Amino acid sequence: MTGINQTNEELKKVLVALTRDLILIPSTAGRPDDIERGLEFMRNHIESLNHIRVSDYEHDGAPSIVILPEHVESPDVLLCGHLDVIEHTDLRSYKSEVRNGRIIGPGAGDMKGGLAIMMELFRDFHTRYPEASLGLVITTDEETGGESGIGYLVKKAGLRCGAAVIPDGGSLEEITVEEKGLLHLRLIVEGHAAHAAFPWYGRNALEYLVEKLQCIRDFFDNLRDKSQDHWYPTCSTTILQAPNRTINRVPDYAEADLDIRFPPPHTLESILNDLGNLIGDDPELKIIISAEPTHLSPDPLFLSVTEEITGRPARLIRACGGSDGRFMAAHDTPIMMSRPIVGELHSEEEWIDIESMLTYYRICERYLNLKLL
Ligand SMILES: [Zn+2]
Repeated sequence: MTGINQTNEELKKVLVALTRDLILIPSTAGRPDDIERGLEFMRNHIESLNHIRVSDYEHDGAPSIVILPEHVESPDVLLCGHLDVIEHTDLRSYKSEVRNGRIIGPGAGDMKGGLAIMMELFRDFHTRYPEASLGLVITTDEETGGESGIGYLVKKAGLRCGAAVIPDGGSLEEITVEEKGLLHLRLIVEGHAAHAAFPWYGRNALEYLVEKLQCIRDFFDNLRDKSQDHWYPTCSTTILQAPNRTINRVPDYAEADLDIRFPPPHTLESILNDLGNLIGDDPELKIIISAEPTHLSPDPLFLSVTEEITGRPARLIRACGGSDGRFMAAHDTPIMMSRPIVGELHSEEEWIDIESMLTYYRICERYLNLKLL
């Protein structure tokens, strides 16, 4: 094989440099210019390839790029990644360092390290095999639900593939096959303002909401079981606010945002019914994002390649978080959801293990060799 990346050492340097360059770009949903800059960076890495076309999409303010070989509509294998990272208030935190064999910085693990691997893999593979039916898609809204990125591309733009590689869950030899369903809800209470010395004249929206949140808390606490992988419904109150800024005024409005995750046999309908029985129609309930639990089926060839390269058995795991995989899975596409070793996701100390990036790269490379050549 006449690889562009002859040695592991050379490849490691390329992957570390690409990852660190990507981390420098604060590509959060709230910074469209930086999202565009990140896409440009990726485009530049790839567009010099012959026989490749880059298509731009945009839906609801979220741009995506789809890179396919000329004359191929549905590639046999599609590499899928998202450029967006979650928001840190201090812009100066978007930097990285290399320490103890890790790249440490916001988005290193989720998923700029993964993007670096896919960019390089795509470039190298197409340089050597220009006819290969391999595509690459980069979206920018995974952290805010994925509906306008992969969701739009699959449901509206007709994007299809033979199999999808999504390095956004699992670990090196842990391949995700089940993902919990997801409900992002807003609970809204309208009350009645009053002087706080005479609370009987008002209806305290905030206190009422807190009571209801406690009912919901108790309900989900009862569903908890002892499963090692926390395979039961959970509910986290993530935002609680009232616009009231006056200490001696009973607030007339309050709202809370909930993040609910649930495995089968629970469904969106059953969870919403449970909530309805608990709180009736006050607070008012607004659905922000919803997704049913998802089953992902990886290509058996990918499992055997994972075992061959890591020397360890591949394990099929269940994940409490969701991913873009669910949009692809809706069309029975085999999904390969594993990735390098990562940690401290969504913190400023987020990291990715460099040696495992190399291993993951080799797993994907071997899989593409067997699958596409
Ligand atoms: Zn991610």
